[in-house]
Amino acid sequence: MDLFEYQGKQYFARFGIPVSPGGVADTVDEAVAQADKAGYPVVVKAQVQVGGRGKAGGIKLAANADEVRTHASNILGMDIKGHVVRRLWVEHASDIAKEFYASFTLDRSAKKHLGMLSAQGGVEIEQVAEENPDAIAKLHIDPVDGLTEDAARAWVAEARLDPQATEGTVDILLKLYRCYVDGDADLVEINPLILTPEGKVHALDAKVTLDDNASFRHPEWDEFRGLQVMDPRDELAHEKGLQYVGLEGDVGIIANGAGLAMSTCDVVNQVGGQPANFLDIGGGASAQVMADALEVINSDENVKAIFINIFGGITRGEEVANGIVQALEQVELRAPIVIRLDGTNAEEGRAILAPHLSDRLQSKPTMLEAAREAVALASASVPERNAGGSK
Ligand code: GDP
Ligand code: MN
Repeated sequence: MDLFEYQGKQYFARFGIPVSPGGVADTVDEAVAQADKAGYPVVVKAQVQVGGRGKAGGIKLAANADEVRTHASNILGMDIKGHVVRRLWVEHASDIAKEFYASFTLDRSAKKHLGMLSAQGGVEIEQVAEENPDAIAKLHIDPVDGLTEDAARAWVAEARLDPQATEGTVDILLKLYRCYVDGDADLVEINPLILTPEGKVHALDAKVTLDDNASFRHPEWDEFRGLQVMDPRDELAHEKGLQYVGLEGDVGIIANGAGLAMSTCDVVNQVGGQPANFLDIGGGASAQVMADALEVINSDENVKAIFINIFGGITRGEEVANGIVQALEQVELRAPIVIRLDGTNAEEGRAILAPHLSDRLQSKPTMLEAAREAVALASASVPERNAGGSK
C-alpha cells in the first residue's frame, strides 16, 4: 500500500523523524484554516501518489491567507500525470540551506536491505543515478545485524553531506531504518531531506510503501486504507478474498493457481488479445469462489469476454462447473464465457455445464483454442445482455 505524503509524514512522526507542522485540507477554506494554524509562510502541497508534483505546479509557497486561497484553488482539481488532486497538505514552510536524499528499500538479489543517501536531493533519484551515480552512497544492511550508529556515521561521511548536517542525519537515518523495519515498509524515502540555515535536519517530503503482507499486525493501517484511491475492481476482489490484479485489456481471466493464471494471460497475449486482469482462484476452489470471481470480473466494464482456464488438481471440475452455474443464476453476466476444463473430474464438470452451453457459454478442449475463441469474442463484441442463457 502506497501512502500519501501526509500519511507518510504521520508515519515518520511515530518513529520520531522530524517533520513540519501542518494539516490536510479538502477545500480552499480548510486550506486557509490549516495555514493559519501552521503559521505563515506555508507551503501548499497537492496530495497525489506520483512524483514530480513540484515541477507540475502542485507545490506552492504562500506568505499569507490570500496566497493560500489562490494556490489552493489552483491546485485542487489539478491533474498531475493522470492523478486528480482532491486533497492538500498545508505545512509551515521551511528555509532550505541544502537538500539531500535518503531511502531504505529491499535489494532482493543481495538479500539485504539497501540504504541510499545523497547530497544531491530535491531532484528525482533516477536522474541522479543516471547522470551522477557516484553521488549516491549505497549501503547494504544485513537484516540480522541491522543499522548501527557507527555504520550510519560512516555512511553519512561517504555521502559527503554538509558536515553541519552530520548529527541530525545520523539520527534521522537510524529512526528511518526503524520506521522501515518495525513499521513493515517496503520503501521509505525522504526527498528532500533538508538542512535548514539554523543547522536542523528534517524531512520535507515522504514516500512510504507499506508491506501488505504485514497488515495483520498493523490494525492501525486501516485508517490509511480508508483514504486510498483503490481500483474498485481490486476493492471488490479484496473483499471477496481473491488473488486479483486489474489490468488494462478486455479479456477477463479466471484460472486456478498463480502459474496457470500467468500462463493464461500470456496465451491471451499470444493470440493477439489483452487480459483485463489476473485472477487466481487457488487450489480446491469451491463453487462459491468461482461465483465470486465471476462477480468481480463482471464488475469490470471493459471486459468483453471471459476466459476460465481450469486444470483440476485439488480443484475439482464439478465444483468449478457448479460455481459457473451458480454464478449464472446469481448475476447477469455481461460478457460471454469460454471455458477450458481439464484435470480432476473434468468429465463430471463438463456434464454439469452441458445443458447450459450456448454461444454465451462455450467449452473448448485446449487452452489455446479457448484463448482464441475468447479473444475473437472480445474483439467482435457488440453490447449484448443476458449471458449464459441458463435461465
Ligand atoms: P515532489 O516534487 O512531488 O517530490 O514534492 P516535494 O515535497 O519533494 O517538493 C518539491 C520541492 O518543493 C522541494 O524539493 C523543495 O525545493 C520545494 N519545497 C517543498 N517544501 C518546501 C518548503 O517548506 N520550503 C521551501 N522553500 N521549499 C519547499
Ligand atoms: Mn519529493
